[in-house]
Amino acid sequence: MGLIEPKLFVISGPSGAGKGTLVARVREQMPNLGLTVSATTRAPRAGEVDGVNYYFLTDDEFSARIEAGEFIEWAQVHDHRYGTLASEVERNLATGQSLILEIDVQGALAVKERFPHAVLIFIEPPSLEVLRERLIGRGSETSESLELRLHTAESEMHLRDRYDEIVVNDDLDRATEELIAVLHRHERN
Ligand code: 5GP
Repeated sequence: MGLIEPKLFVISGPSGAGKGTLVARVREQMPNLGLTVSATTRAPRAGEVDGVNYYFLTDDEFSARIEAGEFIEWAQVHDHRYGTLASEVERNLATGQSLILEIDVQGALAVKERFPHAVLIFIEPPSLEVLRERLIGRGSETSESLELRLHTAESEMHLRDRYDEIVVNDDLDRATEELIAVLHRHERN
C-alpha cells in the first residue's frame, strides 16, 4: 500500500441528489475527513444551525466578505449566494487531513482552476424523475423553488463530464460504499 496523501475533494450534484446524506455517512466511517462550513444568504431550514450547516449571512454581510477577499469561490445558486471561506479551507488543511467541499458546479470548476489537484466528484440522482420525487418528499420547497431546482439540476447534469468521478446515488448504502472507495483510491495515489 502506498503513502496516504491528504486530498482536496469537491463534491457537487443536483440539489436533492443526496449529497448531504452521503457525505454525512462517509464522515461517520472516515472521521478524519474535514468538511468546510460554507456561507450563504439563504434562510436556515428547520433544524439547521448557524456555524454547523452554514454560516447564515445577510446580503450585506456576504457582500462585505466578498469585498474583503474572504472567499476562495462564491456563486449565485438558485436565489441565493453561497461561498467557501478561505479561513475554513486553511483551518482544515492545517490539520493535514483530507477535506471535502460540498459546493455547486460553478464553485467546483472555480476550485479546480485554483487547485488543479483537487478531485471533483459528481453525485448523480438515478434520474430527474427520482430527483423530483425526493425534492417533493423533503417538503422544503415551494412549487416555484422546486421548478428552479429541477431546472438547475438539468444544467448541472450537462457539466458532469468535467468531473473526475461520478457516483450515482441509486441506493444509499451502495453509493456510500462507492464514494468511500473513490476517496480512498485518490488518497493512495
Ligand atoms: P442548499 O440550499 O440545498 O443547502 O444548497 C444549494 C446548493 O448550493 C447546493 O448545490 C450546494 O452544493 C451549493 N453550495 C453550498 N455551499 C456552497 C459554497 O460554498 N459554494 C458554492 N459555489 N456552492 C455551494
